Amino acid sequence: MTLPTQTPSIEGAKRPSVVALLSGGLDSTIVVRMMLDQGFGVLALNFISPFCTCSPKKDGGCRMAARVAQSMGVELRVMNKGIDYLRIVERPRFGYGRGLNPCIDCRIYILRKAADVMRETGALCVVTGEVLGQRPMSQHRRSLEIIERESGLTGRLLRPLSAHLLPPTIPEQEGSIDRARMLDLSGRTRAPQLAIAKARGVEVFGCPAGGCLLTDPAIARRLKDVFDRCTGWDERDARLATLGRHFRLHDGLKVILGHDAAENARLEQMAGPWPVVAFTKQSGPTAILRGRYGQQDLTAIGGLLRHFAPKVTDAGVEVSLKCGGRETVWTAQATATADEAKAWAI
Ligand code: SF4
Repeated sequence: MTLPTQTPSIEGAKRPSVVALLSGGLDSTIVVRMMLDQGFGVLALNFISPFCTCSPKKDGGCRMAARVAQSMGVELRVMNKGIDYLRIVERPRFGYGRGLNPCIDCRIYILRKAADVMRETGALCVVTGEVLGQRPMSQHRRSLEIIERESGLTGRLLRPLSAHLLPPTIPEQEGSIDRARMLDLSGRTRAPQLAIAKARGVEVFGCPAGGCLLTDPAIARRLKDVFDRCTGWDERDARLATLGRHFRLHDGLKVILGHDAAENARLEQMAGPWPVVAFTKQSGPTAILRGRYGQQDLTAIGGLLRHFAPKVTDAGVEVSLKCGGRETVWTAQATATADEAKAWAI
């Protein structure tokens, strides 16, 4: 193997030689191990968005990436996919997968950010755990080519697991990275990766395919509603698409109800300037309102609250709407029917 005598344009011994995308899953974990085993410094990047499925209770996403990075002693930067990413989800250049997942545009977005870090740190290239033919939308040959070109990483995007099936990168051509130690994996099987993990002593890694809520039909529907009908939408709208029960009473008004006490608290916390509605005395769902509402909407909202609080059977129930320090209280008498709730559901 030929290593550069002096790592190119790396400032001091601590600067990384390669920038690696690290989800914490098997493929990206192995790739980081491969680069470390070749003697390179690795700066790992993990991208998070409102649509990650990781949670403090699950071993996935950013949590797993942090564990993997720590287990291998590499620096990890967690990067947020913000409003610029959401604009791409709204109008992707290369289309959607089965939900509202713009996988090709998403990879381009991430890799453009990684390319910035590569330039900033003077790293040799960006490495990823992508495997030719593993994922239908973003990992067939044509997609991999588009992603490389559009991310501005032509010749500087190394996919070590499938490198032998792809054109050599500049660092491989120059001999800074030993192509002979790259692999020729393709397809959906994970057996070779598991064997490599075992052989290289990689024990900490997450479940193979990371989750992304953009592939979930219900989330896709809600997000489409945000893009199409929520004037001036922002990150709050996108985050809320992953939480609670969603209803559209009319073009100008969406109502989001919590499933349980934890979601009720979360909705209240995320409401910001939006009105918050709840029973004054009984326990039941909390709702937040997105848009404009009139008197007849209050009747419908009270009915929805009653529909999802089956234990509340009183003839009239007091409901409160709080917004900007002001409170409106009314009595909800009618319960929304199942057909009404269904018709309003997003
Ligand atoms: S599944 Fe989600 S996170 Fe993964 S590439 Fe597609 S849009 Fe991006």
